[in-house]
Amino acid sequence: MDHQNDLSQSGIVIIGSGLAGFTVVRELRKLDKTVPITLVTREPGYFYSKPMLSTALASNKSAEQLVSTNAEGMSAQLEMTIVSDADVTAIDTVAHTITTSKGNIPYGKLVLGLDADQIRLPLQGNAANEVITVNDLGEYAQFRKTIEGKKRIAILVAGLIGCEFANDLVLGSYEVDVIDLAPQALGRLLPEVAAQALHTKLGEAGVRWHFGTTVQSIDRNGDSLKITLANGSTMTSDVFLSAVGLKPRLDLAKAAGIATGTGITVNRQLETSAKNVFAIGDCAEVDGLVLPYVMPIMQAARALAPSLLG
Ligand SMILES: Cc1cc2nc3c(=O)[nH]c(=O)nc-3n(C[C@H](O)[C@H](O)[C@H](O)COP(=O)(O)OP(=O)(O)OC[C@H]3O[C@@H](n4cnc5c(N)ncnc54)[C@H](O)[C@@H]3O)c2cc1C
Repeated sequence: MDHQNDLSQSGIVIIGSGLAGFTVVRELRKLDKTVPITLVTREPGYFYSKPMLSTALASNKSAEQLVSTNAEGMSAQLEMTIVSDADVTAIDTVAHTITTSKGNIPYGKLVLGLDADQIRLPLQGNAANEVITVNDLGEYAQFRKTIEGKKRIAILVAGLIGCEFANDLVLGSYEVDVIDLAPQALGRLLPEVAAQALHTKLGEAGVRWHFGTTVQSIDRNGDSLKITLANGSTMTSDVFLSAVGLKPRLDLAKAAGIATGTGITVNRQLETSAKNVFAIGDCAEVDGLVLPYVMPIMQAARALAPSLLG
């Protein structure tokens, strides 16, 4: 009963306007049309498909064109309040409030749909700070500007996102070098024989693979970058894109005393160590696993919605 009171008063508050945050709201609305839902995000509150960031170049889609629905549209469609451009700076798990740059917000149940940062390997050289990453729409817009008029792009490493960018960039007529310490692409996802087929196909399209080595330093050399590999060889490129992988952002949870491991630790009901606080998506660790992919998020949101509603 207490929980029902809490929900009808303060409702469900979700931090994050990514796939996790919005999918939880969609699943909630399938079950309950009236529970108050507030979504707080440091982004403008629009919806876009994040996987499109590494496939949109060949079809020449701008950052604006990737936005499928703006904040007003999302809030009308899902009958919720969106507090956009708001940074959440603290969670008080005792008072059941979050502190944001736009004021405090009380919650009955809180869902953390926070993001993960791209991992940046420590690199040497005077152009190490020119390494770019693409992990949200703002960075995609910046990436499009950076590569405009350029020809050669080097990508570290040959994981899912690196391979998708390599494919997209060769389709967009760029010369692409992919560097990875592993002996093959997608080492954690593909058996060797399938990886070989991928190497051949992308190789035919123009991707140059550099396996079994990594990048040691990046130095500016006039208009281009001189990239020195650990095996001693060098290459020239115009842009350096890092796609090394993701590391959940834990500061907010840690400061609130919520248990963390690699991600924010949750049980099988996706509840964190703090009562009434849940986590889902790229920031969450379930059974020791962080699975930063679309399908686990869709399944997890479907499971979480009934739990949130009691
Ligand atoms: C380039 C790229 C390609 C991908 N391709 C695929 C693919 O092909 N297949 C696949 O399955 N997966 C793919 N993924 C992974 C997939 O897109 C992600 O797992 C998924 O989108 C993550 O959604 P999320 O909601 O958990 O996180 P995010 O989309 O990162 O959303 C996190 C939200 O939290 C907000 N936030 C964080 N901290 C705060 C704070 N303190 N205050 C307020 N707001 C905050 C952020 O602003 C953001 O709105 C790809 C990812 C990338 C980057």
